Amino acid sequence: MHPELKAHPEYFQKEIVQLADNVYQAFGFAASNVYMIVGDDGVIIVDTTETTTAAANVLAEFRKITDLPVKTIILTHSHRDHVSGAAVFAEGASPDILASARPSGDSLIEEGAHPRPTKAQQMRTKRQFGIGLSYPDEIVGIGVGPGDRPLKGMGAGIMEPTRKIGEEGEKITLCGIELELVMAPGETPDHMVVWYPEKKVLISGDNFYRSFPNLYAIRGTEYRDFDTWADTMDLLMGFGPEVLGPGHTKAVFGADRIKEFLSDYRDGIRHIVNETRKGMDASQTIDELAHSVKLPPELAEKPHLREYYGRVEYAVRAYFVGTMGWFDGNPTSLSPLSPKEEGERFIRLAGGADAVRTEVAKARSDGDFQWALQLNDRLIHAGEDAPAARSAKAEILREHAVSQINCPTRHYYIQSAKELELDA
Ligand SMILES: [Zn+2]
Repeated sequence: MHPELKAHPEYFQKEIVQLADNVYQAFGFAASNVYMIVGDDGVIIVDTTETTTAAANVLAEFRKITDLPVKTIILTHSHRDHVSGAAVFAEGASPDILASARPSGDSLIEEGAHPRPTKAQQMRTKRQFGIGLSYPDEIVGIGVGPGDRPLKGMGAGIMEPTRKIGEEGEKITLCGIELELVMAPGETPDHMVVWYPEKKVLISGDNFYRSFPNLYAIRGTEYRDFDTWADTMDLLMGFGPEVLGPGHTKAVFGADRIKEFLSDYRDGIRHIVNETRKGMDASQTIDELAHSVKLPPELAEKPHLREYYGRVEYAVRAYFVGTMGWFDGNPTSLSPLSPKEEGERFIRLAGGADAVRTEVAKARSDGDFQWALQLNDRLIHAGEDAPAARSAKAEILREHAVSQINCPTRHYYIQSAKELELDA
């Protein structure tokens, strides 16, 4: 396992953190955080986790602090890991449930007129989050959340919003507390942040968490607008928060520190945009840019920009595809040979399947796992003893997973290996 990930089980220990005299964060109970704001005659809950089990665990902790009823639930955005425990917090009553009126921009959740490749997305979601991987050998965390969290009741407590907040946001008084709900598109277009001016607490949803931002999720997401997300960092800084409560990972305390973190985030995103765009203008292809565009070292080393969840390489590819579509600009790429044909011709040129297998073995013993995978895939594509090549692939994927710092990548490798093993 990557040495930095080894610290995650310790980091994501369950904890109720007090952010202000009447504001609490439930941390480490689920993939995402839950917030409770205690008012005069009731409480406000912000976000609700991905499972009813985790939500019940959080509620039990909150009930040690207050027995005031939950009057309002605010959802920062519609991703499953934030909306799925609402029914638990409602406790059989009918609290107001406030959410952004904007579409989520995430086809996994959006009910549209046109069918989407739902099954593909479900399969890939399972791989990205390592659902079913064993803790702590295969999964220690999701990059921005704990690995040992309840999975029972996933998606089970979703409640429809009782009221949708429009474009202009809203100043609202709930249980004697004045809050501002502000549209802040970032990770998704429907993001709505919660600003509590009196206590200078900002609950940001997933527009910030302590990892390089997930500008593309390998489970399969539509283009997340990079420039908008970067602009939103300025919007968040504009509130002048003294406590920042993110959707995942620990809260950030102190105006200067928050400013530093948010401007690093903004500058990181803008850097990727600028460098990728420059490269595209210089006729570089998507594959070339995925290798050449990096964060500047001073940003790459910041703990809140490590690639635990988002990954620079994926962001570069997403920006390219999101702005230019799939064609990389190289005429050779317009209509390449089928993988089968390319595999057969490659193997012939290499001197036969045995020669390729020898090279795969050599690459593996050199720790050159990506090359081993690329060579081995040609055996699979060409149908050269495909069962043996598939089981070799499973082994290589497990070997390659070991050094990954990016949790979605690590999980995708291991989960895919398991699928190949089951198939054998
Ligand atoms: Zn989230």
